[in-house]
Amino acid sequence: MGKANWKQLAFRLLPTAIQSPMATALTKYRIAKVNRLQTPNKITFFITNRCNARCQHCFYATRIGTNHTDEINLDQIHKLSLSLKYPIDLNLTGGEPFLRTDLVEIGKIFCQTPKVKFLYLPTNGLLPERILSVVEQILRECQLAGLYVQISLDGPEKIHDEIRNVEGCFKKAIETIELLKELQKKYKTLYLKTATVISGANYEQIDEVVRALLPLQVPHTFMLARGSHFGVYNLPKDIWSNFNPAENSSFVPVEALPSLYSTLRELNQNSATKFWSKEEQLRFVHSINMITRRRKLFPCYAGKAEGVIYPNGDVSFCEMTKPFGNLRRTDFDLHKLWHSQAAGVMRRKIERCFCIHDCNLSTSMSMHAATILKRLSGKLPQNDSELILFSAEDTSVLKQ
Ligand code: SF4
Ligand code: SF4
Repeated sequence: MGKANWKQLAFRLLPTAIQSPMATALTKYRIAKVNRLQTPNKITFFITNRCNARCQHCFYATRIGTNHTDEINLDQIHKLSLSLKYPIDLNLTGGEPFLRTDLVEIGKIFCQTPKVKFLYLPTNGLLPERILSVVEQILRECQLAGLYVQISLDGPEKIHDEIRNVEGCFKKAIETIELLKELQKKYKTLYLKTATVISGANYEQIDEVVRALLPLQVPHTFMLARGSHFGVYNLPKDIWSNFNPAENSSFVPVEALPSLYSTLRELNQNSATKFWSKEEQLRFVHSINMITRRRKLFPCYAGKAEGVIYPNGDVSFCEMTKPFGNLRRTDFDLHKLWHSQAAGVMRRKIERCFCIHDCNLSTSMSMHAATILKRLSGKLPQNDSELILFSAEDTSVLKQ
């Protein structure tokens, strides 16, 4: 976990004079590819609002448990899939996605037309047997380059169960992880990850949280609790989605973020298992930079490469912004809706915003020369005193 791959090692051997132009060329190539897209190539599809947990930090809390009857059905999903122009990375989320009894069929539809290369299934892990059975069926019946199952774990048992508001949630999540680890022995395209939302409820015990995760021997991701009112800047108020946790105390205090980075980095450095990848660290650093400096670091590709679909067919460019239309109006043709007048209006409204939303941030980072250079060269801030990235010097040598 967390080790440099051969490409990164080879890159580090190159002279600096070659590294920078290479990072710039890679960036230009990726941006040109995105500019040619007619439909997004990364889609987050909330397939249900139903959930069997009630997490304190849930930014989707006001939608959870409401109106199950208007979930779009398999025929409609099939039409939607036919309107996509490119292979996509698909994130089937919710709510708890494994509560949809037709999850395997949904996966199969997207694997056929157009082909999904990578499928992501986040879960709270509360239904171990069901998750195992669905994951195995998808692996058997869909030809995927990778199926990523991400299981939430917000700390040791007591902390996790309190945050998720379900007794026994931790034990179930561990059971799910163990079952899926066994399945990994049979399927090389199954990847597991645990995910911790760092919130007001667990940031002060971050070392305990890490200690609970390490024995699992599974790669790890940390996300800051988020909402459309936290870590989002320059977004016109009339298009806020208003997805927020019930309590503001769910957010980590801004002043605690730098030392949180230092603590996590030190724990990672001192651990035999490198649980925190360089890419994840960079994302965390970018988030801190945005929050503390209120500065846009790079473009966001929501509305070009990325889109969000809700259970009732509403479509938005990201989870922080309101939907601009509903698939029912175009007979489930996403291409048509994506190029509608309403979509154009929304695109203009999001030209200046920036935010810490992890999914969008990952895409932005993969198309930003200075970030690519930092990641490939492995040069990350050692502690909170080195947190400022992308000085004038960085950006002047890296034009994109
Ligand atoms: S954060 Fe996820 S698991 Fe928790 S209540 Fe919200 S949708 Fe359910
Ligand atoms: S920066 Fe991107 S993801 Fe964030 S609010 Fe704006 S459009 Fe949405």
